[in-house]
Parts: sequence; C-alpha cells; structure tokens
Amino acid sequence: MTAISANDGAATEFQLGGERPPSHDALVVRRTLAEIEPVANEATSYFYALLFTYGPHLRDMFPAAMDAQRDRIFAALLTAAEHIDDLETLTRYLQDLGRGHRKYGTTSDQYPLVGECLMYTLERYAPRSWGPEAEAAWVRVYTLMSQTMIDAAAEDEARSPAWWQAEIVSHERRTNDVAVVTVRPDQPYAYRAGQYASLETPWWPRVWRSYSFASVPRPDGLLSFHVKAVPAGWVSRSLVNRAIPGDVLRLGPPAGSMTLDPDSDRGLLCVGGSTGIAPIKALVEDVAERGRRRPVEVFFGANRDNELYDLDSFLDLERRHPWLAVRPVVAQYATLGLAGQLPEAVRQFGPWREFDGYLSGPPQMIRKGVDALVSCGIPAERIRHDFIGSLVGAQGRAGTRSPTT
Ligand SMILES: Cc1cc2nc3c(=O)[nH]c(=O)nc-3n(C[C@H](O)[C@H](O)[C@H](O)COP(=O)(O)OP(=O)(O)OC[C@H]3O[C@@H](n4cnc5c(N)ncnc54)[C@H](O)[C@@H]3O)c2cc1C
Repeated sequence: MTAISANDGAATEFQLGGERPPSHDALVVRRTLAEIEPVANEATSYFYALLFTYGPHLRDMFPAAMDAQRDRIFAALLTAAEHIDDLETLTRYLQDLGRGHRKYGTTSDQYPLVGECLMYTLERYAPRSWGPEAEAAWVRVYTLMSQTMIDAAAEDEARSPAWWQAEIVSHERRTNDVAVVTVRPDQPYAYRAGQYASLETPWWPRVWRSYSFASVPRPDGLLSFHVKAVPAGWVSRSLVNRAIPGDVLRLGPPAGSMTLDPDSDRGLLCVGGSTGIAPIKALVEDVAERGRRRPVEVFFGANRDNELYDLDSFLDLERRHPWLAVRPVVAQYATLGLAGQLPEAVRQFGPWREFDGYLSGPPQMIRKGVDALVSCGIPAERIRHDFIGSLVGAQGRAGTRSPTT
C-alpha cells in the first residue's frame, strides 16, 4: 500500500476511461470510495489519528505540521485502489511509490498496521457499503498494493540509495514566481525525460514535493527543475524565494512514466501549462537526441504573456529542429501567440490521429486536455500525463490553475 509516510504528491499517469467492464473488486472498492468522498477530510484525520495512536513511532516520519500534508498517504492509497483494474499502470505507480518510500525509512513490517487503520477508517466512514464482501475485496486490493510496494523497495535497495543529497548550483529567477533551480546530486542519478523526483528542502523537513526534470539527463550530471511558487506553498515558495546556491536539498528516486514510447514512430503532441512545460522540454530534447525525425508539436499555455517564462528556449529549439513546432497559448490579454485556453487551441489545429499525446500541467488542464485529445482522434491509451488526483485530492503540479488538489 502506500505508505507510511508519504507526503509526496505521488504521481504517475493513469488512463482515463477504459473499455473493459470493471471487475468485482473494482466495483466494490469504488462503491466504498463514492461513499467516503463527501467525508474525505474527516476520514483522513481519523486515519492518521489511528495510525499515530497505534504506531506512535511512525509520527517521526511525517512533517511536524500535518495540516496541509495529511491527505497524501491516504489519498495515494485510495487512488491506487480506485485504479485496481488498470493493473499495468497501477503496478508501475506502486513500484514508484514503494521505491520512493525508502527515503522515509519505511519498512515492510509497517504495512500491516497501515492496512488495519485503512480498514477501520473505511468501516467507520463508509458504513452503508461496508460488510464482509467489501472487507474481503479491500483486503485483496491492499495486499496486492502493499506487496508490490514492498517488493519494489527491496529490489531497489540493491541498486540505489534511498535518497540523494543535491547541492543547488544555480538559481535563476525567470518571473516573480518561477525559478529554475539546478542541483548537483552527490551520486550519479539516472532518470528518463518526462519523469519527476520528490524533493525535500532544509526549511521543511519531511515535507516532500514532486518536481519534473526539465531536461534530458546531462553529461555533467546536473538536474534542473522549474518551480512555480504557489500562494502559501511551503516547498515551492522556499525554492523560489529562499533557496540560493550552496543550499542542499534531498532528492527521492525518479518516478513516473510520462516518457517516450520507444516502439512508436508517431508524432508527439505535447501540451504543457505553466511549469508543466518543464517535462515537455525534456521530451523534446529526448526526441532530438534519439535522432528519429518524429514531428513534435508543442502547445505552451499560460495565463498571461509574461508567464511564458521558457518560451525563448523553445523558440531556439524550434529554430534548430525542423520537425518541431511551438505554439504559445495565452488565456488573458494575449499579445503573443494564440489567445484562449489550451484545449481549444489544440482542437483548432487537429485532428491529431497520427500523434501520441503528452499533457503536463494543472489537473484541470489535464482533464480538459485529455477530452480534447480524444476528440481530436488520439485514443486514450496513447495519451500520457501526470497523475491528476483522486477523490481525496492528491496534490497536482503548481501553476496557473486552481488547486484542484
Ligand atoms: C508529478 C508532479 C510533478 C510536478 N512537477 C512540478 C514542477 O515541475 N514544477 C512545479 O512548480 N510544480 C510541480 N508539481 C507541483 C508540486 O509538487 C507542488 O505540489 C507545488 O509546488 C506546491 O507545493 P507547496 O509545498 O509549495 O504547496 P503546499 O504547501 O502543498 O500547498 C500550499 C497551499 O497552496 C495550495 N496549492 C497547492 N498547489 C497549488 C496550485 N497549483 N495552485 C494554487 N494553489 C495551490 C494548497 O491547496 C495549499 O492551500 C508537480 C506535481 C506533481 C504531482
């Protein structure tokens, strides 16, 4: 299951929709989740109260202030359960989660207690759908989830550290609230374009947030992130307003599978809103490095012109690569590029039947973007995007958007 400590905005990309009828366990699990949705906050508080009562030693794995954090583990658990029928994606998600939990010091013997607290919480907050059948389904689902995480963590132990120390080597302010932060990890750090890492700052111990790699792996081993400070954001504001070269961050392992499909020769339709453009840049660089001439169409969305903080480097890439087209899309007072919202702009230039879709940005943008791409001819299984949250509201990426998360 998810985790005993987790406060990263666990993410991966799940397919929206699905053709097959849901399995029996999926139906039972979803019934419970639907019942819990209106009382998700109370259920979350209850879950943590139980967890810390029965496992007081676990409290140290969580941040001092739990207010903004406490939904994470519970949200990740419920999210995983909700996607029980998409086994391939779910397995990748849980493996990432299991590996990521090594940095909290999570051990396999902690999972049963978390499972018990989950069951008690569901029993209490979903009384109408709870019963022997629901309990049996949840036990099966939780067992599968926790074992997948435990196995992935054990396998990873032989290969990688639980976390990396990473010194900030440059901090470049691009706008009032966006900074490009570049770090040097203390040990080699392997990842793929399109992935992300969770990151802890010295100012908010045990508070981890996800940030996407903004380039392909570089020969000098440095890693760059584009960070947007969100109002009252703990980690993002520290990274944008406080961090300076010399500060040392902690990095979790790479995660996510919004990566290039090695078997596809199709074009790439990439849609990035705000700092969601960071992994898109990494993907474009990846296509360039592979040297295969796949057409790549990038739509870069922002609220206002001055939020297109990385447009120049995209235009530079466009000049160098004839297969690349970049279109800025500005929602308000546009003087640059296209005026309006990203999904409409994408529709306007469709159809996109011959393309694979990549979406990155605020959860709301992703939801609308998926609809737009499907309506323009890209089947759902060829659309990759960051995880966009579940009923308890897992954290989305920062940006122009409202906090769906
Ligand atoms: C897979 C993935 C990749 C991500 N990549 C990036 C990235 O490359 N760059 C980047 O900047 N962010 C990225 N994010 C978002 C990032 O992980 C954090 O959620 C974000 O920086 C806010 O964290 P915080 O600690 O500053 O805010 P928190 O302390 O978590 O939140 C503070 C307050 O702000 C609200 N809030 C949270 N997010 C938003 C928002 N987007 N808009 C308005 N209010 C908000 C919260 O509800 C809360 O009230 C990514 C998220 C995911 C899941």
